[in-house]
Amino acid sequence: MKKITLETPLIIYEEQHEMPEEYQHLMSIARKALEDAYAPYSHFYVGAAALLQDGSIITGANQENAAYPMCLCAERVALGTASMQYPNIPIKVMAITVKNPEKEVIQPAAPCGSCRQAICEMENRQQQSIILLLQGEQGPVYEISSGASILPLSFNGEYL
Ligand SMILES: [Zn+2]
Repeated sequence: MKKITLETPLIIYEEQHEMPEEYQHLMSIARKALEDAYAPYSHFYVGAAALLQDGSIITGANQENAAYPMCLCAERVALGTASMQYPNIPIKVMAITVKNPEKEVIQPAAPCGSCRQAICEMENRQQQSIILLLQGEQGPVYEISSGASILPLSFNGEYL
């Protein structure tokens, strides 16, 4: 028997201006994408912006439905849009931010489990990690080196 520990290294930017300018710009676009969220039920808005290898930027925002399980997260909207509009161009970085008009979110909001799985699938597909930048409405930004690092022991196509 042996015991192992799985670690998730994070870079924490206490202030947004500590980030590289490219990341600051991407986060500002994710924040703008919040305006395109359709969240009449949860009133929880999520915006995502993905920077592609060729410099293109794709955005996503959550799209809810009265049939709750059909709701789409911002991250998966962005992943699907990138796949369709820019096939075979890898995603380098994805910035994700949130807004809750009823309660200010000051800690970085992390992708849900389904989105972590979808990000891992994209990383496997493009054979390249996606750097994740997470921020609340304000406050620190977490930089995570890959989706896989926040979904350890993930299920993937190798099992099939
Ligand atoms: Zn999600």
